[in-house]
Order: sequence, then C-alpha cells, then structure tokens
Amino acid sequence: MTRKTGDLSRLWHFGFAVVLLFVSILAGGVQAWSKEGHTMTCRIAQDLLESEAAHAVKNLLPDNVDGDLSALCVWPDQVRHWYKYRWSSPLHFIDTPDGACSFDYHRDCHDQHGNEDQCVAGAIQNFTSQLRHYREGTSDRRYNLTEALIFLSHLMGDIHQPMHVGFTTDQGGNTINLRWFSHKSNLHHVWDREILLTAMKDYYEKDMDLLLQDIRGNFTDGIWSDDVSSWTDCDSLHACVTKYATESINIACKWGYKGVKPGDTLADEYFNSRLPFVMKRIAQGGVRLAMILNKVFHHGHAAMAAT
Ligand SMILES: [Zn+2]
Repeated sequence: MTRKTGDLSRLWHFGFAVVLLFVSILAGGVQAWSKEGHTMTCRIAQDLLESEAAHAVKNLLPDNVDGDLSALCVWPDQVRHWYKYRWSSPLHFIDTPDGACSFDYHRDCHDQHGNEDQCVAGAIQNFTSQLRHYREGTSDRRYNLTEALIFLSHLMGDIHQPMHVGFTTDQGGNTINLRWFSHKSNLHHVWDREILLTAMKDYYEKDMDLLLQDIRGNFTDGIWSDDVSSWTDCDSLHACVTKYATESINIACKWGYKGVKPGDTLADEYFNSRLPFVMKRIAQGGVRLAMILNKVFHHGHAAMAAT
C-alpha cells in the first residue's frame, strides 16, 4: 500500500514536471522585445536623466545592480508567468481588431476578460502615477515603487515594439510561423529579436554596445536629430501612450504584416528595410522613458500627484 502510494506520488510528480515543462515551453512561445531591445532602451533613457531623476532611480534600484537600470529591464518578462505576477501578463501588449490598423484606447486597452486599462498603454499610466508618490527618505507602503520603476521602464520598451500592438487573432504575429533566413521563427519574434540579432551579427561584430552607439549617434547627431524633439511632444500621459501605440500599429501594418504569409521565408530584403524601424523604436522608447522619468521625479512631486 505504502509502496503503491509512493509510486503514485512519483508518477504525480513526474506528471507535474511534464506539465510545468509544457507550460514553460508555451510561455516561451509568446515572446517579448528581446533582452537586447529592453537593455538598449533603458540605457538610452538612463543616460538622458536629469540629476533629480537620476538620483531617484538609483535610490529605488536594489543595491545588487549598482545603479544600472538596464540590468532589470528584462525582469518583467521573466516573472510574467509566475503565480505571483500573473496579473502582469496582459500588461505587455495590446490586441487590436484584426486588420483595423488603428489604436482606440477604449476599444483596445483591456484584457481578454474585458477589464479596462489592462494593456501596455494603461499599465504605463498606472505605474507612472504610482511613481508620483515617490519622496526620498520615506517609504510609501501603498506601492512597491521599485517594481513600478522596473515595470514602467520595461513597458516603455514593449509599447514601442510595433508587433506588441498587433492583431488579436494572430497574437501580434506570434501564430504566423515562417522562416527567418534558414531557421524557423514567427513574425512576432522577428521583430522582438531576429532583426536585432542579425544586425549585430552582420554589422556590429555581435557587440550590442556598437549597435547602441549607432542608435545613439542617429538621434544625437544624425538622421533623426531634427525630429527628436517632436518625439516627446504630447499634452498628457494618456495622449503620449495613445500616440506611441498608434505609431506601433501603423508600423506593424505597413512594415510588419504587409506582404507576409505563414510559411514565407523572410531574408535580406525584409531585414534591410525593417532594421531602421527597429533601431528608431528602441531610440524613441529610451528618449520617451527619460522624458517621463524626468517629469515624474522633478521637484514638487506633491504638485504632480494632484494632477
Ligand atoms: Zn514585455
């Protein structure tokens, strides 16, 4: 009897392990702006912080990252399927109606159960308003401001990844299986990571710092330097996130989905024409994250909290 129970329990454990493995494979299938994309967005942002914001960010980060925001910018993707953080899972993207090629906050910013604001545009506003309660030297127990900072920094990357604002049925291109050059991939993952990895391999000696240097050069003294000031134009945070999401779905329609069918092979032509968009979106995510953090942590937090 005891032995039988033992066997059953082992069997149960084995079954549980298989289920866990299966769940983690499934979870891995739904991708997000890669480690490289998030890291570069956060590095660009941290570099552009004014002194008050730079100080607040360092103050909120845990000691083990030595003041480096980018070290934690991928973290929300690592925990989104943990039981404790399951609530955060719908906050990384927006599902728009198939073929609509537009973003409408009230129509689109909800989770699959219809709960309002449960999308990346809603979450950016929520975490930003939490951070408005930051005051150095006090611990506001209503919120975990360290987590709010990390989620905001991550999600500013996600809202700029065009396929994170994509069609509902294909899950932002996740179900559009295809080949990237010679290996299997899907359209979402092409925009999350493949384009960046191919660029690093072909043009930047597999060195992310060299790619980042080029992206920075483009907006400090290069092809985007004339319009970089317009990147931060918007009248309210709600208007800002609406603008970012609208830009993403527009790029997703014109450059992501267009002409792509399941089973296609995407190669040089697709890569070379889309790489500039990927680089620009990383830059815009970083510049705009810095803008938000500079505003939130500007002196007079109390005044901001009331608005
Ligand atoms: Zn994400």
